[in-house]
Amino acid sequence: MLDNHKRNINYLRVSVTDRCNLRCVYCMPKEGLSQLGHRDILSYEEILRVVEVAIKTGIAKVRVTGGEPLVRRGIVEFMALLKDMEGLRDISMTTNGILLEKYAKDLYESGIKRINVSLDSLDSEKYRKITRQGELSRVLQGIAKAEHIGFSPIKINVVAIDGFNDDEIVDFAKLTMTKPYQVRFIEYMPIGPASLENGFRSLSNDVIMDRINHVIPIEPLGENGGTDGPARLYKMRGAVGTIGFISAISHQFCQSCNRLRLTADGKLRACLLIDNEVDVRSPLRNGCTDLELEEIIKYVIINKPLHGGIRCHKNQRKNCTRTMSSIGG
Ligand code: SAM
Ligand code: SF4
Repeated sequence: MLDNHKRNINYLRVSVTDRCNLRCVYCMPKEGLSQLGHRDILSYEEILRVVEVAIKTGIAKVRVTGGEPLVRRGIVEFMALLKDMEGLRDISMTTNGILLEKYAKDLYESGIKRINVSLDSLDSEKYRKITRQGELSRVLQGIAKAEHIGFSPIKINVVAIDGFNDDEIVDFAKLTMTKPYQVRFIEYMPIGPASLENGFRSLSNDVIMDRINHVIPIEPLGENGGTDGPARLYKMRGAVGTIGFISAISHQFCQSCNRLRLTADGKLRACLLIDNEVDVRSPLRNGCTDLELEEIIKYVIINKPLHGGIRCHKNQRKNCTRTMSSIGG
């Protein structure tokens, strides 16, 4: 369905948990977060009901995220139920990959064939630093297992941070020479409480592109350049994989944003960057009808803001007080 700015809202990101087995410096504050109680988060049945009704409004694509989705018990069975829903043409997951080796086979068998893995450094020391506790080898094993089992595409999300992992840009890009991955450079977004303490500056994707081009030329994918959602796609000459650039800061894509988010505590959020949320948990638990739920979803879609105001740091921090982990990225 179209929002007030004629954007077709057909993509729902579902955060199934606010919990995470990592503490990424750009996502969570140092002390972590006070976690939601069991009753506070939507049950899988409640999420499925929201998705079922959202499909009637035109949602056709669902991405499961978190926190870390693989830490929630029963996630594989939930993915299988999602897969069985009529009307969804695309179901995927974004994970930090720590538990991917353990779950890759079951996930694949549940019918999920696409996966995004977040990985910001190929150096184990740096990986531990950025995640505050992660073990790089586990993620690499998870990705290898996913590839072996047949996941396709496998997208590697790299948040590029000036002065932290910018020296690894070319190494990440070179992965695509031999691996069929889509390596996606995501500009760091200074939002939520983590941004107040980490002092990170985002690195423009134009700079990243220049650095890669300097070593191995990259070309836009397809005659008119390729895109994959907000990612602009390129390829190194002779590569088997592709490189994506998600430039939320330098080339904002608000004008074509097709997303809606459902937080783990049951809030519908129309814009990543704005805390305006509408509660669906209470209506769900107070016995609302499908029609009433549909009206709520339509209200959120219609009133989706045109811009999130990402360039104005002061507004971002005022408008978005949640951490990325609690929104789902
Ligand atoms: N835990 C899972 C993971 O890390 O893939 C899923 C949730 S995480 C919030 C979803 C995505 O948001 C990840 O790719 C992560 O790198 C990205 N992300 C988190 N904080 C960010 C920030 N401040 N700027 C840009 N991307 C961010
Ligand atoms: Fe956890 Fe993902 Fe946030 Fe890292 S980016 S702290 S893995 S939710």
